[in-house]
Amino acid sequence: MKPINFAVIGYGGMGSYHVHTIMLQDQERIQVIGTYDISEGRQTVSAEKGHKLYPSYEAALGDEQVEAVLIATPNDVHKELAIQALQAGKHVICEKPVTLTTEEFDEILAVAQETNCVFMVHQNRRWDPDFLIIRELCKNQQIGDIFQIESRVQGANGIPGDWRHLKAHGGGMVLDWGVHLFDQLLFLIDQPIKKISADLSYILGDEVDDGFSCWITFENGLRAVIEVGTTNYTKLPRWYVKGTEGTAKIEDWDLSGELIAASKSEIFSTPQPIQAGVGLTKTMAPPSEDATVKLPFPNSEAEYVSFYCNFYEVVRHQADPIVKNCEVRKVMELIDIILMAKPEIVNEKELQIV
Ligand code: NAD
Repeated sequence: MKPINFAVIGYGGMGSYHVHTIMLQDQERIQVIGTYDISEGRQTVSAEKGHKLYPSYEAALGDEQVEAVLIATPNDVHKELAIQALQAGKHVICEKPVTLTTEEFDEILAVAQETNCVFMVHQNRRWDPDFLIIRELCKNQQIGDIFQIESRVQGANGIPGDWRHLKAHGGGMVLDWGVHLFDQLLFLIDQPIKKISADLSYILGDEVDDGFSCWITFENGLRAVIEVGTTNYTKLPRWYVKGTEGTAKIEDWDLSGELIAASKSEIFSTPQPIQAGVGLTKTMAPPSEDATVKLPFPNSEAEYVSFYCNFYEVVRHQADPIVKNCEVRKVMELIDIILMAKPEIVNEKELQIV
């Protein structure tokens, strides 16, 4: 097995995570032979770790030993770096979001086609165990036909880092966590989108969104709510999914939560009214014990190989990519619509109440 030699471009948070965590898991197939970062400080850190350093991007692309590059820079430079690498005959893995718009992505795709090089986007959250549980529930009917999916990530730390605050660098949460959640949703639901609306949040006063809510209705009637928040001091569950015969709630990445299904028992007692606040309710009373059953979450292992293993197979043996560019493009089209929906910032004076 001849490993693919990589140059890692952008040795920041995610670039170094690739080098020290993900790529190490598959050294038979993947070898990092050098790194390049425009920041001297990051070059020094990489040198201290013993990596070969390239003095420039051109030097990395000029190294004949390099077969592929991993691009892990801020979002705005993905396009130019990807195109340069493809034109130099290198295969490319690009971090998400692939670009800032669909139009930019199309430019990359045209060059990948011309040069016959592999271009794949690192949509790694298709391998998240919580996502894989929901994926299995969509297939196995344990909670019947799924008609509502709520997928959220919420934190209270604001927008992290520096460039993520700036529009020019492709900052904001739609292009950050939003991309992951939309990619997961569209990978789960193979249906055209009928309706979409979104509300972006600018609570922190940045020029980019610090979170958003998005509502999507698919052709088959399934509805989804996608939310990202960075101002949530306490959060809602990571997943809340309703089916015709049950509900699944996954609280967090630790996979805590519950899966409650209708027992389908023919005889069960009717729910008893309960005291609710200062009133009485039967509608909102918990279902009687014999009406429901608590189930374990299904298996959360992917039936597909790891991202890098797949990349290797695509490059060496023309396998089908797990993350297909046509899928990435659909997510980008959705994002184009959402970002265009940003409400105009109203002049403060107009808001003054006399
Ligand atoms: P970061 O700021 O920590 O690192 C980016 C690095 O790129 C910096 O060291 C910077 O100096 C360098 N850089 C900037 N312009 C460059 C250029 N032209 N050439 C070479 N190096 C350059 O950012 P990060 O959090 O590592 O994010 C990097 C990318 O990874 C982003 O696209 C982000 O969306 C993505 N990301 C993906 C995941 C994931 O789970 N897939 C997680 C985090 C970040």
